[in-house]
This record gives sequence, structure tokens and C-alpha cells, in this order.
Amino acid sequence: MKKVVVVGCGNVGMAYINNLVNTKGLINELVLIDINREKILGEAMDLSHAAAVINSNIKIKAGTYADCFAADIVVICAGKNQDKGETRLDLVRNNNEIIKSIVKDVMQSGFNGVFLVATNPVDVMSYVVQKYSGLPSGKIIGTGTLLDTERLKYLLSQKIHINTENIHAYVLGEHGDSSFAVWSKSTIGMVPILDTVSKDDLDAIEYEVKHLAYKIIDYKKETSYGVANCLLKITKAILNDESIVLNVSSPVDGIYIGLPSVINKDGNIGTMKVSLSEDEKEKFEHSKDVIKTTIKNMEV
Ligand code: NAD
Repeated sequence: MKKVVVVGCGNVGMAYINNLVNTKGLINELVLIDINREKILGEAMDLSHAAAVINSNIKIKAGTYADCFAADIVVICAGKNQDKGETRLDLVRNNNEIIKSIVKDVMQSGFNGVFLVATNPVDVMSYVVQKYSGLPSGKIIGTGTLLDTERLKYLLSQKIHINTENIHAYVLGEHGDSSFAVWSKSTIGMVPILDTVSKDDLDAIEYEVKHLAYKIIDYKKETSYGVANCLLKITKAILNDESIVLNVSSPVDGIYIGLPSVINKDGNIGTMKVSLSEDEKEKFEHSKDVIKTTIKNMEV
């Protein structure tokens, strides 16, 4: 029996939930929690009919925190999203309070599974979940720079007309303005990317990746499908015990930050050490400082 509870059923939560329902056989039970009770009552009914269309026998309901007790994963998508011009870090005070109270309620149920976090700023919120749950740090996984990494691969693929499957490129650091592309470790097939694509083009692509969320929010006020697929990928890695490496918010030096980690049924079972170039090391340290300062200011 595989059970997932989703807390926060807005744009991101519902895009992810729709993914779960349409991935037949992945889970047996899905529970929706939101402060907007009427919305999730309606969503649960609508989704149950969607499941019937594909002959899935998944059980879906609008639940309460008591349902978190036997859940394999509790996914947190609750909280405020960015308004036009707002950075992810601007959300910190508001979302800190929301996440704190959610985690306390989840833990009261006796939950002992894996927390998966999407709420921004996601690295800081992963820290908050660990702090208030008291669970081992590997039991908390934030989506980190997984989405940024996929955006980078997509833009490179568009530029050089090579399938994303053969593009091994990575974004690490804060899921935010201080994230950075790790060109020194990126390859197209086996060939170093720095030997294949001009530095000017790489710089332009890196800049675009950092600003894509702002662009999408300008157009449609929110982003959801990209992160929903990242959440699905991490969920599969956990429930199918895949031991795959993903750039998620990972515990390092008392904070969470985007780094490659091995994900399986136990959560994050190991974060990899990446040997960065001098320039990338500086960017990584800067990103760590941004997260540390945000946590410090949040806690005063
Ligand atoms: P939304 O406003 O559409 O949905 C948020 C939901 O949370 C709402 O349904 C609201 O009722 C619910 N909620 C608020 N407080 C709650 C509480 N105390 N308990 C339970 N539910 C509560 O927002 P969204 O667009 O779905 O974004 C959600 C979060 O995901 C934001 O923080 C956003 O920045 C983040 N996000 C992260 C990524 C990523 O890559 N990690 C990408 C996109 C969005």
C-alpha cells in the first residue's frame, strides 16, 4: 500500500496531484489537505472520476492531518507564491509561519515517512521542515535546483538541437537568484560543453534559466507544471526505491541547498561532493551565504 498526502492544493499541488492520479499503479491512496476545505472536497470528487476513466482503483479523499500517520510521503505545496516582481526570498516570513504550523500538525499524527517540499524559498523551507519535524535530515527533500536543471537542459537542447537525454548539464546552489550552472562538469554526450558551445551562448542561457520563473509569472501569474513533474520524479524515486541522483535541496553544513543526491525509499541517502572550478566554488559559497542569511533574518 503506497500512500501520499498533499498539503496545499493550489496551482502546484493540483498539477502534481493530477500527475499522481494519471500515473496508474504508483500509489493506492491519495489524501488532499488545504485550508480551503470546500475546494478539496470538490477536487477529490473530480479526481476520483478522472481515475475511473483510466480504470484506476486509487482511493482519493479530502482528509485531515490524522491521515498523515501511515503515509509514505507528505508533500508540502502550501503557502504564498510570488507576485509579479517578487523574489522567492520575499516569501520567507509568510511561508515560514505556514510551514511551521503544518509540520507540527503532520508530526502529531505520528508520521514517520519522507517530507517532500515545493514551497518557496524551497531550500529555506526544507530547513524549516527539518527543524520542526525533528526527523533525520535525509527524510526531508526539497525540489531544489531540479527544475532549474531541467530548464537549462531544455534551453541547451533548443540551441544545439540535441535531445535533452544527451545533455548532461546541471544547476546547483539556491533555487533562486544565486543559483549557477556548473559548466565545468557539463557534457554533450561525452564531450565537454565548454568545447562545444561558445561561452557567450552559455552565459546567455544561464541568465535566461535564472529569469524564466519571473517571465512565466509575468505572463500567467504562477508556475506549476514544471515543478509538478519534478515532484513526480522525486516521488517515483522514493516509492520505486530507484536510487537515482537528482539535484534536490540537500542537507549540507546545517542548511539545505541544491546539490546532487541519491534518492530511494529512505529519502535522501547521500549527497555527492562535486569538485567545482574556482569560479563555481565562489558562486556556491555565495549561494550558501544567501540561504544562511535568510535563515538568520527569518529567525530573529
Ligand atoms: P497557490 O496559492 O495556488 O496554492 C497554495 C495553496 O496553499 C492554496 O490552496 C492555499 O489555500 C493553501 N494553503 C495556504 N495556507 C495553508 C495552510 N496553512 N494549510 C494548508 N493549506 C494552506 O500557490 P501555488 O502557485 O500552488 O504555489 C505554492 C508554492 O509553491 C509557493 O510557495 C510557490 O512559490 C512554490 N513554487 C515552487 C516551485 C519550485 O520549483 N520549488 C515552483 C513553483 C512554485
